Amino acid sequence: MLKNVLSVLFLCSSVFFVAAQNKDRKNYTNSKTYDQVIADFTALDKRSDIASMSTAGLTDAGKPLHVFVMSSDKVFTSGQAKSKEKSVIMINNAIHPGEPDGVDASYEMAAMYVAHPELLPTNVVLVIIPIYNIDGYLNRGSFSRANQNGPEQYGFRANAKNLDLNRDFIKADAQNTISFEQIFQQWKPDILIDNHVSDGSDYQYTMSLIVSQRNKLHPLLSAFTSSKFVPGIYADMKKIGQPICPYVETMGETPESGIVEFMESPRFATGYAALFNCIGFVPETHMLKPYNDRVWATYDLMIVMINRASSEAKEIIRLHNEADQATCTQEQFVLGWKLDTTKYEMIDFNGYESSHIISKVTGLPVLWYDRSKPYTKKIRFYNTYVPEVSVKKPSMYIVPQAWTDVIYRLQINGIRVHRLLRDTVIDAEYYKLNEVRHPDHPYESHYVHRGTKVEATVQHVQYFKGDYVIEVNQTSNRYIVETLEPEGDDSFFAWNFFDGVLNQKEWFSDYVFDGKAEQILIEHPAIQIQLDSARKADTTFAKSHWNQLYFIYERSEYKEPTHNRYPVALLRSPIKLPFE
Ligand SMILES: [Zn+2]
Repeated sequence: MLKNVLSVLFLCSSVFFVAAQNKDRKNYTNSKTYDQVIADFTALDKRSDIASMSTAGLTDAGKPLHVFVMSSDKVFTSGQAKSKEKSVIMINNAIHPGEPDGVDASYEMAAMYVAHPELLPTNVVLVIIPIYNIDGYLNRGSFSRANQNGPEQYGFRANAKNLDLNRDFIKADAQNTISFEQIFQQWKPDILIDNHVSDGSDYQYTMSLIVSQRNKLHPLLSAFTSSKFVPGIYADMKKIGQPICPYVETMGETPESGIVEFMESPRFATGYAALFNCIGFVPETHMLKPYNDRVWATYDLMIVMINRASSEAKEIIRLHNEADQATCTQEQFVLGWKLDTTKYEMIDFNGYESSHIISKVTGLPVLWYDRSKPYTKKIRFYNTYVPEVSVKKPSMYIVPQAWTDVIYRLQINGIRVHRLLRDTVIDAEYYKLNEVRHPDHPYESHYVHRGTKVEATVQHVQYFKGDYVIEVNQTSNRYIVETLEPEGDDSFFAWNFFDGVLNQKEWFSDYVFDGKAEQILIEHPAIQIQLDSARKADTTFAKSHWNQLYFIYERSEYKEPTHNRYPVALLRSPIKLPFE
C-alpha cells in the first residue's frame, strides 16, 4: 500500500500531491450504510493518534452528529488550532444523502492519512462530518435519484421533516442545522467543503466546482480565491488527469449557451459560511459518471484543496483575520444580488455535441447529447453579480425578548448580545413594511416573503428589562445585518419569523365609526383632501362606504402602531443605553 501510494506522489511547489492510481483503488459500486460508516470512522480513530472522533449535537433522527478531526500535531480543539496557527478545513458530507460520494471519499482520504500520517500537512486541521443528514441517510433506497449512475443504494435528499438541509442555514428548522452551526462557530473554519452530486447537462468532466461567489465573498478573500487559490486547484486537478469545470448551470438549454456562476445565498451551506468570511466550496460530481469515478474524483479534489490550503495556510489565516476585522467596521451591506449578463469570461469547456431527437415515448423532440462527439470549445462563463439591494448598517439593533426564535439563532451563531437593565422608552428607527409578497404554496416549510419594501420611520417605543441590544461592530456583522434587515433575501423576516406583525388585531364597526370619521375629517382637513382625491381617482373606492372609512381609520390615531411595523429597532448612532 505504501509503495502504491508513494509511487504516485510527486512534488510541486514544495507540496506533495497524492493521486493514487485507479488500479490501486477500491471499486465503489455501493455506498456504505450509516452503521458501517460510523464503524469505519470509529475504527480509524482507534487505530490512529492523528485522528479524534467525537459526537456533537443531535439531529432530527435523534442521533448525534459525528465529528472526525485529523491533525498531524494532534490539534483536536479549535482553541489549539487557533493558537498554533493551523488552517481549519471543514468537510461536510451527505447534506443530500442521495449524493453520498463525499462520505466514501472522506473515509478513503482519512484512511490514507492514517496509513501515511506524514502526508497530512502539519499546518492544517481537518474537521470532517462523515454524515450530516443522518435522517435522510437512514431513509435508504435505490430510486429517488432517477437520473444518477449509482451507487446501488443511497439515502434520500430530505431529512426527517422532509426539509432540504441545504436551504436551512438561516431558518434552522432542523436540529441538524442548529448542531452544525454550533460546530461551525466552535471551529470557525477558514475553508468549508460541502460535497455534492450535480444534475443537469451532460459533459465530459467527472467533477465540477462551486466556489463562494466572488462578488459576494469578502473582497480580500475573493481576490485570493479568484487570482490564486482556485486557479491553483484547477491546475493541480488537470495535472493529475482529473480536469474540472465550474458547476454547470446553463444560460440556455446546453452549456454552449454559457454557464452562469451559482449564487449561493445564506440559506446554502457555503452562503452561510461566507457570512463569516469562510471560503466555501461545493464539489459537484457529475450524476451520469459511475459512482466509483465520482468517489475518487471527490477524493482527489479534497486532497488537492488540502495541499493547496497547506501551501497558502499563512495567507489564508491572515486574510480570514483581516476580513473579519474589516467586517467589524464595514458600513454598507448587500442584501440581494443580480447577475450582470453583459459580463463574462471565456473558458475552455469539454462538452458533448447535442441535438434534438424524437422521443419514442411522446413523439416530441427531446434534447440528446452525443457522447461519441466530444468537443472542447470556448464558452461564456457569466460570473459577475451586482448589488440589487443594499443597506447602511445601524449602530445597534434592539430585538424585544418576545422574539425568542430569532434571539436563539443569533446566540447559536456566536452573536454578542446585551440585555437592557431596566424598562426604557427609546426613540428609534422602525421599518414600516410597505410591500410584502409571498407565494400561495410553502417552500421548505415557509411562505417565504419576496420583494419586501420598507420605509424608515422614527417612533417612541417602550422596551423592557431583558430586551436584547445587538451592537453592529462584530466580526459576524454580515450575519447580523443580512438576517435582521427585512429586505434581505434570506432575512429572518423573509423566512416568516416576524409574521405576527402582519395582521391587524382590532377593527371597527362601520355604523359606529361613521360618526367618529366625520369628526376626524373636521379636525384634520388634510385627510379630507386626500379622501377627495382618492374618490376622484378610483370609482370603486368612491362607491365603497367601508373602504372610505378604513382610509380615514388608517390615517387616524386609531390605527394600530404595531401592525406592519417591523419590531426590531435600529439605532443609527450609538446612544447610552442601560445594558449589561
Ligand atoms: Zn446536492
